[in-house]
Amino acid sequence: MLRFILLALLFLLVARAFWRLMDGVFEAARGAQPGHRNGNAPAVKLVRDPVCGTHVSPRAALSLTSAGSTQYFCSEECRAKFSGRK
Ligand SMILES: [Zn+2]
Repeated sequence: MLRFILLALLFLLVARAFWRLMDGVFEAARGAQPGHRNGNAPAVKLVRDPVCGTHVSPRAALSLTSAGSTQYFCSEECRAKFSGRK
C-alpha cells in the first residue's frame, strides 16, 4: 500500500513537471509566432470589394479612402464605379 502511494506521488510529480514543460513550450511557440508572422506575413486578412464582391488582399488591391474609411477594389474599373456612384 505504501509503495502504491509513493508511486502515485511520483507519477503526480512527473506529470506536473511534464505539464509545466509543455506550458513552457506552448508559451514559447505563442510568443515566437507574432514576430514570425510579421516577418513573412503569410496570413493576410482579405477584404471585400464593395462593387463586385470579390475578396481581395489589401496589399495587392487598389484602395480608396473616403470619409475616414478605406475601401479596397479588385480593379480600377470597380474603383471608378464606386467613386462614380456617390
Ligand atoms: Zn471588383
